[in-house]
Amino acid sequence: MGKKYDHLFFDLDHTLWDFETNSRATLMDLYKELDLEGKANTNFDHFHHTYHHHNTIYWDRFRKGYINREELRWKRMWRTLVDFNLSDEALAKAMSERYLEILPTKTSLFPHCKELLTYLSEKSYPMHLITNGFEKTQQLKLKNSGIDHYFKEIITSEQAGIMKPHAAIFEYALNKAGTTAEKTIMVGDTLEVDMLGAINAGMDTAYFNPAEPPTAKIRPTYVLENLGELMRIL
Ligand SMILES: [Mg+2]
Repeated sequence: MGKKYDHLFFDLDHTLWDFETNSRATLMDLYKELDLEGKANTNFDHFHHTYHHHNTIYWDRFRKGYINREELRWKRMWRTLVDFNLSDEALAKAMSERYLEILPTKTSLFPHCKELLTYLSEKSYPMHLITNGFEKTQQLKLKNSGIDHYFKEIITSEQAGIMKPHAAIFEYALNKAGTTAEKTIMVGDTLEVDMLGAINAGMDTAYFNPAEPPTAKIRPTYVLENLGELMRIL
C-alpha cells in the first residue's frame, strides 16, 4: 500500500499547541503576580487585547529582521505598559522574563491533536516540526503538553539560522529528515509563513486554523476545518 507522503512536517504554535489560549492564561498569571490591575488601572481583557495588538506588530518587525529577539521580548511588554501610562522598563523586563518562564508550562492543544498524532504514529509516519519559535521554549512546550515523543526532528529558526517563509529553512528541514520535497506535506496555520514557504520549497500543504482565506497566489493543497480531518487525508 503506497502512501502519498513519506514525511510529515508541522508548525507548532497556533497549529498544534493552542498559543492563544496558553498565552492568555500566562498573561492572566502575570496580571495577578505583578499586580498589573493596580499598576495599569485596567481590566484584564483590555490589558490582554492591548498586549495582543503590540505583540503582533513586534513579531512582524522581528520576522522582517528590524529588531532582535531580546527587543521583541521586552518591548512588546513595554509598549503595552506605555498605553496605560506606565513607561516602566524594569517592569516590562520582569514581565518579559516571567512570561517566557510561564508560557511553556501551559498545555492547551487544539481539539483532535493527540488523537491525530497517535493515529499518524500508528501509521508509522515520521513526523517533524518546523517552527519560528525559540528553541528552549518550544522544547518545553512539547514536553509539558506531552507530545514531544511524536516528533523526530524539531527544526527551529534559531537552529537553522533562518525563519519561515524562507525556502532555506524548509530545505534544511528536509535535509535533516533525510528526504526531499516531493512526498512531504507541511501542516500550518499561517498563509504567508507556513503555506507560502512550503509551496516555494515544493511541498504539499495543509492549511489549518486559517486567520485569512487562501489567495490566488497562495493556494494550499488542503484547507482544514479541524485537525481531525487530516486522518481522512493521511
Ligand atoms: Mg503557527
